[in-house]
Amino acid sequence: MIYQGVLTKMQTEFLEPIQYYLVFDNDFIHMNQLLNKSIEMKLVGHQCLSCGLDKPIYRQGFCRTCFFDKPLAGDWIMRPELSTAHLNKEDRDLEYEKKVQLQPHIVYLANSSNVKVGVTRKSQVPTRWIDQGAHEAIEIVEVPNRYLAGITEVALKDYVADKTNWRKMLKNDIEDEDLIEWRQKLKEYIPEEAKDYFIETNTETHLKFPVEQYPIKPNSLNLKKQLQYSGELVGIKGQYLIFKDQTVFNIRANEGLVVEINI
Ligand SMILES: [Zn+2]
Repeated sequence: MIYQGVLTKMQTEFLEPIQYYLVFDNDFIHMNQLLNKSIEMKLVGHQCLSCGLDKPIYRQGFCRTCFFDKPLAGDWIMRPELSTAHLNKEDRDLEYEKKVQLQPHIVYLANSSNVKVGVTRKSQVPTRWIDQGAHEAIEIVEVPNRYLAGITEVALKDYVADKTNWRKMLKNDIEDEDLIEWRQKLKEYIPEEAKDYFIETNTETHLKFPVEQYPIKPNSLNLKKQLQYSGELVGIKGQYLIFKDQTVFNIRANEGLVVEINI
């Protein structure tokens, strides 16, 4: 069976284990069903997630032009503290920015390879944690806009990591941490403006990924160079496909590539 479509991050369902779907225009593939099966992937082109043109992908699935022009690639996406919609101040498109920024946001602690702090829209919990391959996570602050979440994250970064080590995450080289204890420890560093939004009483969320075999030395597939790959799928964690030969493929980092998948 051959499928063709543009890669976008896999959609997920928070079940035990997590369920993954690769969604194309006319088809979707339930990735969990491909575990222990051989699949072949071929690069056949590019399709910018914004303009749809077959242009080289620059970042986040966008061509260079769209990455620097479109409101959905503004700096405040990666750096929430730069959000300005709450001041009625436009970055690229105020209406869009208001819609996205002026809604409940969560500052969370997630443990994928180490404990890290992050920000997401409330509607993206637990999707965000799944995408990061976190095996445990907890909300610590719920604020009414993206800016407040951003400045909280910046303040906490001095005391906790804000990055995931993807190799450790994939190797499952992890330790359980008491995230409630971390939350209590970090409480005093939350900025004044966000202190009232601290969450006192929730519990950790645990996530289980469909992985049968973790790689010992993960080796990242660069489909843009290699153009074609085939291997046996043995796991999915975060947005990574894990193959038996220790090759790993980050779907998220390859958004915008048009691929043919042969199952
Ligand atoms: Zn474009």
